[in-house]
Amino acid sequence: MESVRNLIIGAGITGLATAAFLGDEDYLVLESDREIGGYCKTIKRSGFVWDYSGHFFHFKHPEIESWLRDRMGGQEVRVIHKRSFVSYGGKLIDFPFQKNIHQLPQDEFIDCLHDPYFARLGPSGPTPETNFKEMLYARFGRSIAEKFLIPYNEKLYACDLGTLDKDAMGRFFPHADVTDIIRNMRAPDNATYNATFSYPQGGAIEYVKALASAVRPGAIALGEPLLGVQPARRVARTAKREIRFERLISSAPFDKLAKLLGIAHDDAAFTWNKVLVFNLGFDKKGPRGVHWIYFPDRARSFYRVGFYDNIFDSDRLSLYVELGYGRNDVVDVEAALARVLDDLRKEGIIEDHALVDHHSVVMDPAYVHITRASMAEHARLKRILEDQRVYPVGRYGGWTYCSIEDNIVEARALVAGFQSRSA
Ligand SMILES: Cc1cc2nc3c(=O)[nH]c(=O)nc-3n(C[C@H](O)[C@H](O)[C@H](O)COP(=O)(O)OP(=O)(O)OC[C@H]3O[C@@H](n4cnc5c(N)ncnc54)[C@H](O)[C@@H]3O)c2cc1C
Repeated sequence: MESVRNLIIGAGITGLATAAFLGDEDYLVLESDREIGGYCKTIKRSGFVWDYSGHFFHFKHPEIESWLRDRMGGQEVRVIHKRSFVSYGGKLIDFPFQKNIHQLPQDEFIDCLHDPYFARLGPSGPTPETNFKEMLYARFGRSIAEKFLIPYNEKLYACDLGTLDKDAMGRFFPHADVTDIIRNMRAPDNATYNATFSYPQGGAIEYVKALASAVRPGAIALGEPLLGVQPARRVARTAKREIRFERLISSAPFDKLAKLLGIAHDDAAFTWNKVLVFNLGFDKKGPRGVHWIYFPDRARSFYRVGFYDNIFDSDRLSLYVELGYGRNDVVDVEAALARVLDDLRKEGIIEDHALVDHHSVVMDPAYVHITRASMAEHARLKRILEDQRVYPVGRYGGWTYCSIEDNIVEARALVAGFQSRSA
């Protein structure tokens, strides 16, 4: 039987970053897909460069960004000040909606300002915030919640927002109080965690390739899914072999890992949405000066549309379009495409444009549902697994909402922890 010190599951950002930080240590990466990159893959067709939905990079750690950039050869990387909007009532409102209510018609503006002011002053004191939906009502009042925050997030998460934890979006949720809202009327400050983003000409995969360049050649086994683990024996099984390991580091979705390990768990605690992504390339330019638009209107099939062509100022409209589904929903791609094209016309994004090429992918899971039950069950199981030197990591191993950079930071901290324990 083969043995390896560190067995890494998944050659996405997290798995590759873990391998890269392990340096000279003994490791093997098992990847079920035939290519590296996980959700950070890029598709190049008919002159268009597309990802699995827009994958933009927001670095808070300059040393991580420069480490990656040093490994990206002659790749042009643009740093973009994002321009994002909400399509509301036939107009584009600056994002975040809650800080730009002064751009609404006067009657709606008054409602949106009145409600958050009084939301915390109800007759029985502040309204409760025991879940995400209650948090939206309590902090923003009925009008902002019902005009944008609730319909938009219901389209994205495809679930009852009352089941999500109030901090289900963590730092990715743009909070604003009445003072912020009023200040924004005179001095716009729409900065969110992704106010600027960087993007390589060759697509998101260029960052993946940079990580992979620090991984030992031959240490990634593609097309070889992990099929089972016997934690007590410290043995993993694929269709080709059994591998003895000292540590198992898995970026596979946590619910799937729990099953592979045969560990008793509450499966109902882990739910998620699926996102159908269309990448659409047209014959001529579309709207300029916009990077993405949010669509709260339930009459529109998509919740977000992004404009690749406005990143590198290319001369043909190139879009990613995202549609949210429940995890058990059947996705009819052809029917959805027809509807998307119709909705794009209704929104004025396309007119007499001809579709040159397109691509679609279902991200499943896409956004995990962070609930009290998922947090408690994940934390309980993670403690048990870590005692067995099994480490669930990454966006899906960690059952969390995070960015690509967060995945790299997590991998770095994990490896530093290993090294300090063995020092
Ligand atoms: C719609 C959407 C848009 C996003 N946009 C952005 C963005 O703009 N910016 C940003 O920073 N982040 C974005 N993200 C988040 C980003 O995609 C993730 O943080 C990141 O890609 C996660 O990388 P990962 O390696 O943890 O997981 P993954 O990319 O899921 O990689 C896991 C890998 O494990 C493999 N695997 C699974 N099971 C097995 C098994 N049994 N055996 C072997 N291999 C297995 C999979 O094939 C996969 O390659 C977005 C996410 C979504 C859903």
